[in-house]
Amino acid sequence: MSEEKEDINEQSESNENQESCADDISSWIESIDELSEIEKAFGTDELCGKTILDIGTYGIKPLYIALKYKPKKIIGINDGFPDSYALIEPKSKLFVETEIKFYDCSFFNDVKLNEILAKEILNEKDPKFDFVLVSKTLHHLRSGACIAERRDPKHSCKEDEKCCIYKFNEKEIFERLLCLGKRLIVYEVFDPETPDADKIRGRGGHFTTNEWKQIFGFLVKSEKYRVKLIQPSRLCLDREGLREMDTIFRQVDVLCFYVERVEEKQ
Ligand SMILES: [Zn+2]
Repeated sequence: MSEEKEDINEQSESNENQESCADDISSWIESIDELSEIEKAFGTDELCGKTILDIGTYGIKPLYIALKYKPKKIIGINDGFPDSYALIEPKSKLFVETEIKFYDCSFFNDVKLNEILAKEILNEKDPKFDFVLVSKTLHHLRSGACIAERRDPKHSCKEDEKCCIYKFNEKEIFERLLCLGKRLIVYEVFDPETPDADKIRGRGGHFTTNEWKQIFGFLVKSEKYRVKLIQPSRLCLDREGLREMDTIFRQVDVLCFYVERVEEKQ
C-alpha cells in the first residue's frame, strides 16, 4: 500500500473512532437526561433493598441508579448486548450495596430469559422484580405481522425485514412485562418521522399517536391496571384522563409512565 493511501486509511479510522466516542458520550448524556424523569416513576425514597430489571439496557442507567439510590440488585438484558459490556461487573467500592449484572438476551428468548431469571432472582416468596424498566425499548417489543404498509403504501416486505414494522400486541406484551415485575416503568419517544436507528429486523419503528391511543385505551379500559403518567404531566390515567391524551399527544413527543396490576399496589 502506498504511504498516501495508508495515511488516508489512518485518518478515516481515527475519524470513525472519534465519531463513536462522541456517540458514546452523547448516549451517556441522553441517558442521564432521561433518568431525571424516570427516577420520579421509581418513587426514589423506596429504592433501597429493591430489585430492578432493565430491559433493552445500555448499562448506563443501572450504574447511575446504583450510585444514587443503592437498590439491592439490577439486572440488565439487551439483544446483541456486546459481550465486552456483559462482562462489566463494577468492582468499585461505590457499588458495594448493589449487585449489577448484564446479559446479552432478547426479551423474546424465553429459554435464555428464564435461565437468567432462575439464576438471578428470585425466591418463591418474592418471584418478581420490584421494578421493570423499559426505556426507549417498548417500540422494539413488536411481535405481530408487518404493518409498514399502513404508513407507506409503497412498502413491500423484504427478506431481511429491514424496512418492516411488526405490529405491537399490547395485551400480550404488558401481560408478559407485568409477570416479570410489580411496577413497569416505560420511557418512550414517539416520532414516526425519525427512523429508529437501532431497529432489528421488523422490531422497531417509533409508535404513532394511534398506536399510543390503542395502548392506553387497552390499559385503562381493561381495569386490570393502574396507569400513572409522569411526563409530560403527573396524572392518574382513568377513562376521563384518556380523553386528555389527545391534547397531550399533540404537544409532546416524550412519554414516561408506570403501570401496576390493580391488586399489586406497592
Ligand atoms: Zn413489511
